[in-house]
Amino acid sequence: MSSEFNLIDKFFVHGNLTREDVDLGIGDDCALVTVPENHQVAITTDTLAAGTHFLATASPISVGYKALASNLSDIAAMGAKPTWVSLALTLPEPDEEWLNGFCEGFFGLAKQHHVQLIGGDTTKGPLSITITVQGILPRGEALTRKGAKAGDDIYVTGLLGDSAAGLEVLLNTSKQIKTELELELERRHYYSTPRVELAQRLRHLCHSALDISDGLISDLAHILKQSNVRAYIDVDQLPISDELMQYFAGSREQCQKTALTSGEEYELCFTAPKENREAIKQITTLLNQNVSIIGEIVDEPFTNIQDSVQLHRQISKLDWTLHGYDHFRSNV
Ligand code: ADP
Ligand code: MG
Repeated sequence: MSSEFNLIDKFFVHGNLTREDVDLGIGDDCALVTVPENHQVAITTDTLAAGTHFLATASPISVGYKALASNLSDIAAMGAKPTWVSLALTLPEPDEEWLNGFCEGFFGLAKQHHVQLIGGDTTKGPLSITITVQGILPRGEALTRKGAKAGDDIYVTGLLGDSAAGLEVLLNTSKQIKTELELELERRHYYSTPRVELAQRLRHLCHSALDISDGLISDLAHILKQSNVRAYIDVDQLPISDELMQYFAGSREQCQKTALTSGEEYELCFTAPKENREAIKQITTLLNQNVSIIGEIVDEPFTNIQDSVQLHRQISKLDWTLHGYDHFRSNV
């Protein structure tokens, strides 16, 4: 891209913050950072492609926010502290208005988490954003998917289902004027809250964790498979917003089914032994963040998703057929 260097200076050097552990930032062939002694680096990459993960017409502020938030959520899921980010941006043209909005969303969130942009790449082509976030954590303390134990409580953070409802709203182009409720759900689809601080504080109390990007059921299955256990979930314990209840005209069952499959929630699902309930509660209260216990890990070997996640309403077994979450690939 001809004005690549001007663009980088104008948009990516200025909005940035400076961390003491960055020895060399944007401007050379590589960035150089210092990792504290006895720490490991957690590294994650996510791509957001226009038409697959967001509509090309989406507000650039929300795209900048979401692109970083989805990566921060992965860092949170490991219990790491995010530190550095790289940004590979492919743009059809150097659209300054779009870049201004993108940077507002991106740097606004980066600043909240004290994450420094240390490099990237800028190319011409169909709109796509690839972000790599790195974080640090004390050696050996990462929260992985494979530590779940029989008897563990299964927790989720925040509320589930709003992201899918928001996506449905924003794909419904037949409606000219949207209600306040619809606009709020749409906002929730783009603006998740990465549970970065909470996960670091809970790290030592949990056995396993991941973030919900493909839907609770599909994602929980990763924990179950890697830990070789099964799960019991009480659908009445799923955290559902008043807005979702309103959206589905009071149908609790529809809300619960949506909560089980809604993707791009970027909430955490984690498991922890029952004796840690009180300690977990103290931390969540301190940070003023909601978590819900939605079920329990069962001491039976994993087979497949259908059989390994047993859905219940209190003591009655449910045999719901659920459709997995998919991005809106085919719709745009
Ligand atoms: P090279 O050709 O050596 O890969 P580039 O010309 O692509 O270098 O980039 C010059 C500098 O600007 C590098 O330090 C690179 O990391 C940084 N950079 C390029 N694009 C971005 C971007 N979108 N965000 C942040 N830094 C960027
Ligand atoms: Mg380059």
